[in-house]
Amino acid sequence: MFQPPRCPNRRCRQHHRPEPRFFRRRGFYRALCRPHPIPRFLCRTCGRGFSRQTFRMDYRDHRPDLNARLFQSIASGVGLRQSSRNLRLSLRCTELKFRKIARHLRRLNLNLRGPLPEGSSLHFDEFETYEARRNTRPLSVPVLIESATRFVIWAESAPIRPHGRMSEARKRAIQEDERRYGRRKDLSSRSVERTLRRGAELTERLPAVELYTDEKTSYPAIARRVFCGKPIVHWRTNSKQARTIQNPLFPINHTEAMARDLLGRLRRRSWLASKKRRYLDLGLALWASWRNYVRRRFNKDEQSPAQRLGFVDRRMSEVQLLSWRQDWGKRSVHPLAWRGESVEAWEQR
Ligand SMILES: [Zn+2]
Repeated sequence: MFQPPRCPNRRCRQHHRPEPRFFRRRGFYRALCRPHPIPRFLCRTCGRGFSRQTFRMDYRDHRPDLNARLFQSIASGVGLRQSSRNLRLSLRCTELKFRKIARHLRRLNLNLRGPLPEGSSLHFDEFETYEARRNTRPLSVPVLIESATRFVIWAESAPIRPHGRMSEARKRAIQEDERRYGRRKDLSSRSVERTLRRGAELTERLPAVELYTDEKTSYPAIARRVFCGKPIVHWRTNSKQARTIQNPLFPINHTEAMARDLLGRLRRRSWLASKKRRYLDLGLALWASWRNYVRRRFNKDEQSPAQRLGFVDRRMSEVQLLSWRQDWGKRSVHPLAWRGESVEAWEQR
């Protein structure tokens, strides 16, 4: 039987620190989208009623049956407009669904991970894309992965200053942009630091950190600051070296190539683009969880990257990833749980 993990009422003390048996069962109801009846509950403290559905990711969604298909579609290089045509949803509804799914997956990705096992190493790189207008609003995207399993630890975007060849028309466009939005800031080193910190959270138990990057001069100082006090074995490779399988940066180059292919808005010479970088960040979160939990590491493998690191014990489907809400950290219900067991409890099993 499903046990509700907490009272959904934020002002109730059973919301933050639920006691055992804080609820009473109160029958069932039938929903069109579920084959089984859904149990109802009543909080003994605040008297608020709720049901098992309150703890689902698709709580209050219209067309919850399309969530997994939309997730799959966006993680397959299809844009939002084309997805909305295929699924016969309005564009607005598709956008809102995409944001809700991606925010959920970002939390899920953080909840399910744990310390990296011994022998793990990190690959880090930045690639460039843009928001809204290619020649005036470039972005840098730092990506951090675990090398052997290709587990995507973090990826986000940061604005950078326009650079490269300046034609007269481009200079005019940049001036016009600066008049409207102010001088474009370069926030990339802050973003690099934040991304590496996500790696530092997972490498606390390792005796030393092995890090592969290119030769950008700012990386060694940022790495020392982030992995404070820990010995770092930092392998640096010239980025002009041919991008073959022998290149020490192959794992990260390969991951970036896959992201560019499967996240349509990152493709070169494409109609798809991000209008705002916060939605690109959501796209990256969605793609990372598909990469980490749904896809096999390589085509010949049976296991997903997260499975190889021991974070989950099986490869998961899009439907499983979009099951329980993940807004309560490690105390959220584990995506594979039936009775409402938390991610914490599942890990100790
Ligand atoms: Zn309550």
